[in-house]
Amino acid sequence: MKVLVINCGSSSLKYQLIDMSNEIALAQGLVERIGIEGSILTQKVDGRDKYIIKTPMNDHKDAIELVLKALVDEKNGVIKSMDEISSVGHRVVHGGEKYAQSVLVTDEVMKELEECAKLAPLHNPPNIIGINACKELMPNTPMTVVFDTAFHQTMPQEAYMYAIPYEVYENHGIRKYGFHGTSHKYVSSVAADEMGKDIKDLKIITCHLGNGASVAAVKNGQCVDTSMGFTPLEGLVMGTRCGNIDAAAVTFLMTELKMSAEEVNTLLNKKSGVLGVSGVSSDFRDIEDASSKGNERAKLALNMFDYRVRQYIGSYAASMGGVDCVVFTAGLGENAIETRETICKGLEFLGIEIDKEKNNVRGKVREISKDGSKVKVFVVPTNEELMIARDTVVLVK
Ligand code: ADP
Repeated sequence: MKVLVINCGSSSLKYQLIDMSNEIALAQGLVERIGIEGSILTQKVDGRDKYIIKTPMNDHKDAIELVLKALVDEKNGVIKSMDEISSVGHRVVHGGEKYAQSVLVTDEVMKELEECAKLAPLHNPPNIIGINACKELMPNTPMTVVFDTAFHQTMPQEAYMYAIPYEVYENHGIRKYGFHGTSHKYVSSVAADEMGKDIKDLKIITCHLGNGASVAAVKNGQCVDTSMGFTPLEGLVMGTRCGNIDAAAVTFLMTELKMSAEEVNTLLNKKSGVLGVSGVSSDFRDIEDASSKGNERAKLALNMFDYRVRQYIGSYAASMGGVDCVVFTAGLGENAIETRETICKGLEFLGIEIDKEKNNVRGKVREISKDGSKVKVFVVPTNEELMIARDTVVLVK
């Protein structure tokens, strides 16, 4: 069974074709600049040179058509015909309160996705366009949607509610949803396997630290809290997002500085985070570099980032009444050795102790806690695509 996993952005599209008999990605690719001059597809297959196609693509249908062409290409492809693709799994950012699980694509689901689009106006519309384009090109292939928010739907009400008038929640859906759910679900299950324990017996804190970053508390296999909120802006300090901030600062910016809603949105989502504080870059490698050369603001940005992650770990240990395991994943979590070390420094009182030698690892599953550390700490490379493909196989069967 070969599953095509598609993740559509507004002008880009990521894809993977995964052979589910051994869970190996046969090909992975990226289409960029859809509908913009300079459209390009780049496909990677293990052991081969990159396959690059530069050709104008007006829309997502053109892009998906090209993806299929690249996959069946005689010289550079990995399958003989499109019929080998048994099903397609689509990543969708927001499933609102309706979806706590992945679902098969039906007309009703498509209608619901349109409804959810107002909660994620930047993300859901391109996801929907991608699904529709795919349906046109592969009308007989079963398709599924896997939501970024679904895993977090098990949060108890006291965790997901904001203390605003109840009617505002009821009428407008303003509450915490959480994102990166597919990643938190995947890495928590890998960590449980590594510990040789049933996830139903564990309290796990998963730290997805990339450009966008979030922490989740996973108790007995279910998410009980997460740091991102109504939108991906809440929670940790991120590459360009501010994370937690007093909402009154927003109204202050609007009334005192006469900024428009859109300007404030841009300030908090695109110009803040470690970029805003350091003034250097949104890329943690650049900031680490600047910090090591004595740039004080770069150092401050890193300290703020670490401090907030540390706070969340402590807070989620309290939420769950303890913690058995902490997992680091995504760009920074998988690769930033020093960041992992500084985050965990000061958490020894919880029984979290990192082993310096074991922590010297990038991009591999590894336990990095000291022998005898009460809480196990793991690095687990995330694999959202595989999780999407697994859900797709289950639903299609
Ligand atoms: P996203 O998917 O949210 O765009 P990623 O999970 O790809 O983000 O993570 C990107 C971030 O990871 C970047 O800020 C990058 O600097 C950081 N990163 C990647 N490798 C390293 C490394 N070796 N050391 C420190 N940071 C790293």
